[in-house]
Amino acid sequence: MNNIKSKLILAFGTTITVLLLVMVLKSLYSKKSEKIQEIIDVRIEPALEILHEYRSFNNELYLIAINKISSAKNEKLTNRMKVITEVELPHLNKMAFDLIATFPQENPEFYAFSQIIGTTDNAIHNVEDMFIILQTKNDYEKIEKLNVSSTLNDKIALQFAEIDHLVAALQLQFNQENKSKRTELNRQLANLNKIIIISSTIAILISLFVAYKTIQSIVKPIKILQEGAKRISEGDYKYRVMLNGKDELNELGDNFNSMADSLSTSFENINSKNKELEQFVYIASHDLQEPLRTISSFSKLLKQYHGKLDDTGNQSLHFIAQATSRMQYLVKDLMDYSRLGSDKSLEQIDCEELLIGVQSDLSELIKETNTKLIIKNLPKVSGYKTSLGLLFQNLINNAMKFQNAGVKPIVEVFTEEDPNFWKFGIKDNGIGIAPQHQEKIFSIFKRLHTKKAYEGTGIGLAHCQKIVELHGGTIRVESEIDHGSTFYFTLAKKLLES
Ligand code: ADP
Repeated sequence: MNNIKSKLILAFGTTITVLLLVMVLKSLYSKKSEKIQEIIDVRIEPALEILHEYRSFNNELYLIAINKISSAKNEKLTNRMKVITEVELPHLNKMAFDLIATFPQENPEFYAFSQIIGTTDNAIHNVEDMFIILQTKNDYEKIEKLNVSSTLNDKIALQFAEIDHLVAALQLQFNQENKSKRTELNRQLANLNKIIIISSTIAILISLFVAYKTIQSIVKPIKILQEGAKRISEGDYKYRVMLNGKDELNELGDNFNSMADSLSTSFENINSKNKELEQFVYIASHDLQEPLRTISSFSKLLKQYHGKLDDTGNQSLHFIAQATSRMQYLVKDLMDYSRLGSDKSLEQIDCEELLIGVQSDLSELIKETNTKLIIKNLPKVSGYKTSLGLLFQNLINNAMKFQNAGVKPIVEVFTEEDPNFWKFGIKDNGIGIAPQHQEKIFSIFKRLHTKKAYEGTGIGLAHCQKIVELHGGTIRVESEIDHGSTFYFTLAKKLLES
């Protein structure tokens, strides 16, 4: 069974074959019943009817003959005799003859019917002869005519007795046959019913079984592929599906595995390129610190010449010292950024405890700005502790920093429900961010203000984004100028160690 089409053809084929078998069985059994019904309709019932007619005509003719011998001419009697002997009995004889023509000649019923036909014929002749002899009143007075008629009458009586006897015997036989055939017919019909019920049940069960097996052979690989797609989408690039048939779904499974292979190779390449890049940034920023330190110490040295320089010289020296210190901060932030995620070990973190630590690190700034920090029930999550601490610290720090002068900062940390993620929010009552800047601020070195207005290097939110992505989540901001900002970020509940 190499492809889905053949599987479906097999399922439908089996169902149709089984149904055809049921129909053949049904028609075989129906044929038997029809044969019995035909015997009853074509042989038994017409025979019984004919025999019944023989009995009544013969009785009537016998009575007419008896009356004829004892009474004088009677017109009505003669006419009735003529109808019976010339029309009704010959017609009945013909019907009986036609009927027995369908019987096999060795059949005893054939013989008995022939006897009835023959005897009836003879009786008709005798009755007719008697009516010819006894035509007038005078005929009844002639002794020889009366003798002949009387002999004929005896003969007729014997013949009618014989016919009656034969008819009664045949009626008994046909009645018995009728009864047995009807019993057989009922049995056949009951059998037919049973056969139909049993074979239909078997047919339905076979069809259901084949359909179930076919559906299973299609649905099972689809489920395996679905699981594979889910695992890969969750970041498990090493996951491969195991299918061992030869149909289209198995081919799809092979293609799926090759796709997963190239995906995981691409990711490995990207990861190694990223690592190289981070290494480069780390080395570059590390090496940059050395000349910076030299510039910084020499600018400090130059301060000794304070009295020997004019105002412009002193101011230039001050600018050099300031720029050097900013550069040192920048380089340090860059180094931190490149190092993020290098010491990876997943652990269960109680976010409320984590926030107590962050709060204590920021305690000076909180006091200085008189910030009201509200922390609502926070969950325990799995993640990288130092990075998560840094994430909260950056966002709370920004929330306190980007405020209008004279406003008491109110910062709120809260969580929202989501089935697959931990969702956090950090809300402030600060200066807000214009819609057109809300995406850009997550890029490295992107700042919306001058150093003079708000201190900073522009790396903080890039840091935050990197940390959130490391935890399988996303970060975004909702804000309006002068109406504060809320930074939302998610952390995956099922985090795979990378
Ligand atoms: P930095 O704080 O060093 O300037 P960030 O990357 O942390 O750098 O922030 C980038 C920019 O996003 C900031 O310069 C500021 O303009 C804006 N920003 C960040 N947080 C807030 C906030 N809570 N309210 C208003 N603006 C903010």
